[in-house]
Amino acid sequence: MAKAVNCPCGEMIKADTDDELVQLVQAHGKEVHNQEVSREDALAMAQPVE
Ligand SMILES: [Zn+2]
Repeated sequence: MAKAVNCPCGEMIKADTDDELVQLVQAHGKEVHNQEVSREDALAMAQPVE
């Protein structure tokens, strides 16, 4: 099931698998916010997408 994370900066990060989503959220956090995001945090922010 696809999931998405709505970053507070307005960016919507979407992926088909948890692993991919975590990678994208971690990359976004590091590049855009200079912030390390744990796998747990990334998945906690994720919401299922239709
Ligand atoms: Zn962001």
